[in-house]
Amino acid sequence: MNTEIIKIEEENIDRQAIVRAGEIIRAGGLVAFPTETVYGLGGDALNASSSEKIYAAKGRPSDNPLIVHIAKMEALPFLVREVPKDACKLAERFWPGPLTMIFNKSKYVPAKTTGGLETVAVRMPSNKVAKAFIEEAGGYVAAPSANRSGRPSPTLAKYVIEDLDGRVEMIIDGGEAVIGLESTIVDLTEEKPMILRPGYVTAEMLASVIGNVETDRAIMDEACDKAPKAPGMKYRHYAPKGGLTIVEGQAWQVEQYINERLKECKAGGKKTGVIATDETALHYQADSVKSVGKRKEKEQIAKGLFRILREFDDEDIQVIFAESFERQGVGAAIMNRLLKAAGHQVVTPESKL
Ligand code: AMP
Ligand code: MG
Repeated sequence: MNTEIIKIEEENIDRQAIVRAGEIIRAGGLVAFPTETVYGLGGDALNASSSEKIYAAKGRPSDNPLIVHIAKMEALPFLVREVPKDACKLAERFWPGPLTMIFNKSKYVPAKTTGGLETVAVRMPSNKVAKAFIEEAGGYVAAPSANRSGRPSPTLAKYVIEDLDGRVEMIIDGGEAVIGLESTIVDLTEEKPMILRPGYVTAEMLASVIGNVETDRAIMDEACDKAPKAPGMKYRHYAPKGGLTIVEGQAWQVEQYINERLKECKAGGKKTGVIATDETALHYQADSVKSVGKRKEKEQIAKGLFRILREFDDEDIQVIFAESFERQGVGAAIMNRLLKAAGHQVVTPESKL
């Protein structure tokens, strides 16, 4: 298939291009589009065959449900059996934005879109290109992240092109995603609201609106014997091609440990990379040292993480070490993605003092 690639700026939306993108979706085709979190791979959420095409284009297991994207609040009741009070409060505070809510689904949402579940995930993005596109597409766009299954989510169109060129009708290049991590997912179908995937909207932010919120233990803790409630969270994900190890501990210990391993890897002829911070980047002797930014600026770290994982692939890095981050606030989302990218490979060096 020939993939049309077009640039659309948020501040200067090309109406004709958006209309064409909408027509592709209405006709059952696929369009990758920018959002504030990461790029999405969109199809008509109400058309089962479009959802099948999304799974095929991504190479995604079909039990892993898609998030339905809407552009206005009035679109929600059609998708769901009821809108709980908490959902109204959260929507008022965080929509449009990087929050996905799980509801009991209406009969209009095909089982193919929800991976066979009786629930549906819904989000209203804030990116203006995304909003205009969803409206033109009929108001209901199912979209997982626009990467091939298992790869880091794309925050730039060039990575969407790398993964999906020839597999979708159109790719809209809207520049760099401003948040860079996928949405927070909160389940509102059980008695207590529960976070199924941490994101930019933190547990503390949710709690400030609806009171106590729980977090699905299975998403951070590999030792937990329960399957995560968001089916996608059980799959290895976000993985760079090189093996990734997270190193936890005091800063000096982490640096010493990583530098020792780097020497061994280099002696073995392996190309090495380190995910460091501005404070530490100069301390490592790797082929490629990348800073995710200042340790305190979590939003910056979140924004650059997936891009850095992709850059290591571009440079054919074979072994990667990453510093670890506090799991508070947005840190929970950063560590969740890093842990998955590393296949939960974490080491804590012994103190040699
Ligand atoms: P992605 O679209 O790549 O951001 O992945 C979507 C995530 O949302 C996956 O982890 C899915 O398992 C999760 N998800 C989508 N729909 C549901 C649902 N109805 N219940 C629980 N998790 C869901
Ligand atoms: Mg994804």
